[in-house]
Amino acid sequence: MTDNERAEIVLDSVSKRYPGQKDPAVDAISLTIAAGEITVFVGPSGCGKTTTMRMINRLIEPSAGTITIAGRDITRMNPDRLRRGIGYSIQQAGLFPHLTVARNIATVPGLLGWDRKRIAARVDEMLALVGLDPDTFRGRYPRQLSGGQQQRVGVARALAADPPVLLMDEPFGAVDPITRGLLQDELLRLQSELHKTIVFVTHDFNEAVKLGDRIAVLGNRSRILQYDTPAAILADPADDTVAGFVGAGAALKQLTLVHVADIGLTDCPTARESDSVDTLRAALAEQDWGLILDDQGRPLRWIAKPQLSQATSLHEIGLPVTGTVPLRATLQRALETLLAESNANAVVTGSHGEYLGLITIDTLVTQLSELRAEHTGPATASEPHP
Ligand code: ADP
Ligand code: MG
Repeated sequence: MTDNERAEIVLDSVSKRYPGQKDPAVDAISLTIAAGEITVFVGPSGCGKTTTMRMINRLIEPSAGTITIAGRDITRMNPDRLRRGIGYSIQQAGLFPHLTVARNIATVPGLLGWDRKRIAARVDEMLALVGLDPDTFRGRYPRQLSGGQQQRVGVARALAADPPVLLMDEPFGAVDPITRGLLQDELLRLQSELHKTIVFVTHDFNEAVKLGDRIAVLGNRSRILQYDTPAAILADPADDTVAGFVGAGAALKQLTLVHVADIGLTDCPTARESDSVDTLRAALAEQDWGLILDDQGRPLRWIAKPQLSQATSLHEIGLPVTGTVPLRATLQRALETLLAESNANAVVTGSHGEYLGLITIDTLVTQLSELRAEHTGPATASEPHP
C-alpha cells in the first residue's frame, strides 16, 4: 500500500454482528471506494457508518465478508501494520491529552522507526500543511488549543506517515459552523494536492455534498440506498428515503457544486471614488445603477442614477456593498451574498479584493436549469426508478 493511485478499497458482503445483538449492525454491504477520491458515507445516527468504517482499519473485525485495499485482503495482514498505512481522524480529534502537539503528530512516524531529525521535520511540515505555525504550536498541549486547532492537529497526525488511505469519522462534528466550513475548505485544498483515498463519515448531507466525489447514502444496517456523485443524487434521489434525507431545497444545494470561477460574470458601470460625478453620470447613460470603487478598484458602494443629481463628489454617496464573493466561492455562497444586497446582485472580487463583475439572480436561475438538464435529461426525467 504505497501507491496512492492503486489504494482502491473493496468491501464485499461485509457484515458485523456485535456479540449479544439480535440484528447485525452492518448487513452485507458491498461497495468499491475509488482510489484518490473522497467517498462520503452519509446516513442517520446509528445506521452503522462508524462500524463500517472501523472494519476498514480493523478496529472492528468483520463477522463476514472480505475487504481488500489495493487488492490485498486486509484480514490476512498484521493489524498494526495495516493501521500504520491508514490515517484515522475522529471527532474531538482524539489527541493524546498528555502529549504535546509535536509528539501527537509524531506517533505513527515514531512507530515506523523514523529517525528524530526526519520526524521533527515532518511534524513542522504537517503543521504548516494544516495551517498552524510550527513555532507557535509544536510545544503546546491539546488543552491549549481551540476545537478547530485540535481538529487540524488531528488531521496532521492522520497524515504524518503519508498513508495512502485516510478514514475520517465525523472529524468536524464538534466545532462551530464557521470553523467547520474553514476545515472543510482546508480538507479540499489538501486533497487537491495529496489525492489520498479518503473515506469520510458524516450525518450532515450538506457536508457530504461539499466534500464528496461520491456519496454513499446509507440506511439501517448500512444498506446502500444510493451510491453516486453529489450532483446525480441531488438531481435524482433514488427513492423517497433518500429524497427525505437530501432534504428541502435539493435544487438549491446543487449550487454548492459550481464555483464562481466556472461561470460568466455580468458587468456593471463603475467609477473610482476620486473620479468626477460627471464621469459616473456618463457611465450610467445606459444603466440605472453602478458601483463606486476605491482607488485600488475594490467595491465600496452601490450608486443609483437619481442619487447623482445633487452630488458634488463620489465620496459620500451611495449604499455600502455589504458583502463580496471571491472567485473560489461556490454559487451557494454567491446566492447568500446576493440575498443580503438591496439590489440582489453579488459582487465578485479577485485575489486583491478588486471588482471583477457581478452574479445576478438570472445567472443563478440559468445555472440551476442547466444542472438539472445535465443530470437528468429530458428522456429519463419522468421514468420511474428501478
Ligand atoms: P453510526 O456511526 O452510523 O452512528 P454505529 O456504527 O456507531 O452507527 O452503530 C451502528 C449500530 O451498532 C447501532 O445500533 C449501535 O447501537 C450498535 N453498536 C455500535 N457499537 C456497538 C458495540 N460495541 N456493541 C454493540 N452494539 C454496538
Ligand atoms: Mg458514528
